[in-house]
Amino acid sequence: MKIFFNGVRGSYPIAYPDNIEFGGNTTNISILGKNKELLMIDGGTGIRTVGRILMQGKCRQGQGKGHILITHTHWDHILGLLSFTPFFVEGNVFHIYAARTECVSLKKIFEGLYDKDFFPVAFKDLPAKIVLHEINPGQSFTIDDFTIMTMQLNHPNTTLGYRISDGESIFTFITDTARIHVVPLGEGFLSIDDPHYNEFVESYEKRITDLAHKADLLVYDTHFREESIKGREHWGHSTPKDGIRIAEMAEARQLILFHHDPDEKDNDTREKERIAKDIAKDKNFDVYAAYEGLCVELPSLKHNKEELNCK
Ligand SMILES: [Zn+2]
Ligand SMILES: [Zn+2]
Repeated sequence: MKIFFNGVRGSYPIAYPDNIEFGGNTTNISILGKNKELLMIDGGTGIRTVGRILMQGKCRQGQGKGHILITHTHWDHILGLLSFTPFFVEGNVFHIYAARTECVSLKKIFEGLYDKDFFPVAFKDLPAKIVLHEINPGQSFTIDDFTIMTMQLNHPNTTLGYRISDGESIFTFITDTARIHVVPLGEGFLSIDDPHYNEFVESYEKRITDLAHKADLLVYDTHFREESIKGREHWGHSTPKDGIRIAEMAEARQLILFHHDPDEKDNDTREKERIAKDIAKDKNFDVYAAYEGLCVELPSLKHNKEELNCK
């Protein structure tokens, strides 16, 4: 399995000279399975890179097909879908998977994204065929050769973490999640003063550990550093210390720090990585900060700067 990082920034896309090393596009990961099947995670602005590559192949003739797993529908995870060029070619078929939520259907959310007050083309008028799949948190399913497991993370509304296996290696993607023992944020989660809250935390920690169990690669939300999370614990994000704790409990083989704060300059991200490496120096796994253009090969854990080849 090859994992391509096309967007690693959290919250807002940015383009400043002092953020260029790690990159300013928001969340998109593309995964090539052992038989070259393509799976994408999230439609942040990084997905435009994949769109450009796909348009050099079958998508240009309207014969393209793809699958996009959405963690949740906050802007930074869906904004790039508006300019994902393969959606504008008739004949292409894309399947989008996201959490089922209590109050609003996935179809309503997508109609809202393409509402005429915000965008000139309505969702129903997109030339490509878009098939929406609502996923219950905890549900497992398969796409091509991939087996996918899900769980609800600790973030406003319903956010999914994913464990993806192609039979040869395991990749776990956990972004946009806060410290469960400090503040519960997910839709339907118990409140912190509930008498059963401690049991809930225990079962949540077991689920998140299972999701990352012996993963060849764990990507974890590290929007904050220990000094910047103070007073912002309820914003829905974590720090490298949190990622290291989960990676250790889960016996993951490698941890990648992800969802960098848009106010974090390259120097800050480098420093975040250095501190994380120091904390993890006696652990059985390596830690790196994600950057745009990074490709990690599993199970070998080889890192390259490589362009996605999925035409
Ligand atoms: Zn986010
Ligand atoms: Zn979010």
